[in-house]
Amino acid sequence: MTTIFKKIIDREIPAEIVFEDERCLAFKDVDPQAPVHVLLIPKKEIPSFSHLSEEDNALVGHMMLKAGEIAQDLGLEKYGYRVVTNVGPHGGQTVFHLHFHILGGRPLAWPPG
Ligand code: AMP
Repeated sequence: MTTIFKKIIDREIPAEIVFEDERCLAFKDVDPQAPVHVLLIPKKEIPSFSHLSEEDNALVGHMMLKAGEIAQDLGLEKYGYRVVTNVGPHGGQTVFHLHFHILGGRPLAWPPG
């Protein structure tokens, strides 16, 4: 099932893109929950974290390294930040295209709600 994030990848709808390479794309969340709130997504259509398979090993490793680089580029390194992915209804997932939230710019409460 095609999602709104696939439309962002295909440039069918606009987004504030902060990073892109051949495997992934990062853009600002339209409803930011922190001063910095970016979503990092694979270009490959994977519905959620729980749909990853062995063949995605290199892709996920690449994305985790890019998440750290993007956070650094966005100035989050000094005070820290959070990388999180919501999975399914209890995880609060609303868009069924794998995405990692990169959040920072303020202290983030723990545990989450
Ligand atoms: P989740 O609830 O973990 O599935 O996260 C989905 C995120 O996508 C939410 O934080 C939304 O604000 C964000 N979102 C939905 N549509 C767009 C869009 N067109 N551009 C940017 N972010 C979006």
